Amino acid sequence: MTDPSERSDPADGERSLPGVGLVKGLGVTLKTMTRRSATQQYPDVAPALPPRSRGVIALVEENCTVCMLCARECPDWCIYIDSHKEEVVVPGAARARQRNVLDRFDIDFSLCMYCGICIEVCPFDALYWSPEFEYAEYDIKDLLHDKEHLGEWMGTVPPPPAHDPNGEPAKEETAAARKAAIPANPAEPPAAAPSHPADRPAAPSRPADRPAAAPPRSAERPPPRPGSRPAEENATGEGPTP
Ligand code: SF4
Ligand code: SF4
Repeated sequence: MTDPSERSDPADGERSLPGVGLVKGLGVTLKTMTRRSATQQYPDVAPALPPRSRGVIALVEENCTVCMLCARECPDWCIYIDSHKEEVVVPGAARARQRNVLDRFDIDFSLCMYCGICIEVCPFDALYWSPEFEYAEYDIKDLLHDKEHLGEWMGTVPPPPAHDPNGEPAKEETAAARKAAIPANPAEPPAAAPSHPADRPAAPSRPADRPAAAPPRSAERPPPRPGSRPAEENATGEGPTP
């Protein structure tokens, strides 16, 4: 063991003076008293969370078509979906249609890592982030939320943020504006076709009006050069074989 008297700490000299530590401590206290407090008085005061906080996942059951994309993409495999098919009779249709009915949609929040992939991939806007985070349980099994429980979280989902005024317009808005710009009545044809026969250009009907017939192919060929072998006709008689 090192003898305390052998320590070469430069503060040793100060420690030996009585009251130095007290003065230092009071200095820190005074400095901190003038600063603004960073302590959040949770749970008496609810924290102000950013609007896109990832607290819990909420489900809109009516939007879910049981496409299974979220369950397939979840890296933790903590989404459990069961469904059955149901026949829907559509008046006027030749045969009944089938639709998926959701029987079970559970998320195990004891496994979830809050990556948000399920919400990103859902093509039917059935999943949303809620900033609610106060759902701790004494029993880990209670962290498995069924579709009714997930649906209850929808009440805590904040409304979507307003559009950025400097951002690009949404695709839906652009498409609606383009559709509104098209007149209800299709545009008139550029020029009306002449209705009186005298206004129409005369079509060449007599043989004399038609262009002269093309000469026979054999007449198009140049005469054979002296000393060259006569070209052989192919099987169809249309020309020399290569
Ligand atoms: S947030 Fe990620 S881990 Fe959690 S359920 Fe969705 S995909 Fe799975
Ligand atoms: S991706 Fe969306 S629509 Fe498809 S099963 Fe999941 S929640 Fe339902």
